[in-house]
Amino acid sequence: MHASGQPAAEVAHRRVGLPSSRMHAACDSTSHRGAAPQSTLDTLPVEVVNHILSYLTHPRSRLPGLTEAQSARDYCPSARSVVKSREDLTSPPDSGRWAADLFQNHLNIHPFHALSLTSRRCHALVESCSAHLVRACNMFNLPFAQFDQFGPGSVWPDLSGIVYRRLWLQHAPRRCIYCFAVMDVYPFPVLKRLLTGCESCFYRQTLQLDEIERQYHISPGTILASPSVRGNRNSVWFLRIDVEALALQLYGTRAFHDAHPEQFGKPCSICAITKFTPTHRVSKHKSSQKTERRLASQKKKLRRSSRQ
Ligand SMILES: [Zn+2]
Ligand SMILES: [Zn+2]
Repeated sequence: MHASGQPAAEVAHRRVGLPSSRMHAACDSTSHRGAAPQSTLDTLPVEVVNHILSYLTHPRSRLPGLTEAQSARDYCPSARSVVKSREDLTSPPDSGRWAADLFQNHLNIHPFHALSLTSRRCHALVESCSAHLVRACNMFNLPFAQFDQFGPGSVWPDLSGIVYRRLWLQHAPRRCIYCFAVMDVYPFPVLKRLLTGCESCFYRQTLQLDEIERQYHISPGTILASPSVRGNRNSVWFLRIDVEALALQLYGTRAFHDAHPEQFGKPCSICAITKFTPTHRVSKHKSSQKTERRLASQKKKLRRSSRQ
């Protein structure tokens, strides 16, 4: 009984270590035990720890250039547009966020699991908190009452052998780690990883080869040859912050090279290389991966409404 995708996350954790330095600092109770024991998580009162853990059930990142609050699905779209329009496009893209590379989210580990691996005490705290939550809602009808009354030998399965954090996380709703929208509640119709993002946030943070060529006048060949542009090489999706960083390096700005009416028939005002046709009908890059492009065209409507 375990939540989907967790074995892979566990393996990844052992291989790469804790993904978040902030998390590591907050809960590493072993390396600084002598220096400041009173400040470590495992010495706090259990009630306080449980309160902290309640915020970690759904770890948050945010969308580039926005705060967590501004990234939220229910944040006013026009207010968000105002924030984005004021962004300084001559500054580096917002790449210092947790889970900034959504193509690597499968390597990020849930804070409950990360905490459990830091020390025996943290493991016990997370288990205790999760066990309390499982008991409180008892969504799997476990025989807690009988256990309390007649002891561990009176019930099956053995309640002391359950990994309660896995059980609780399996039950906890799946939320987009960027916009915090609820994507699914238990029982999930399809298996999803604990740390995941919604479709809309994926499109906000990625660009396709033809889009990159159209908006930044950077050729597909340049993108494909650039080791700094992360993406899914098996399809046509690339991380927008990396493309923006490349554009900044090339042109001194992350602004789109979009043609305005006064530019039609003239060279691009940013790169001065590409000449806009009189009607601004940009020919699309012929991708060999037509399946992905078909999928993209189906999603275009959504993308238009979510992009800013
Ligand atoms: Zn989202
Ligand atoms: Zn240009």
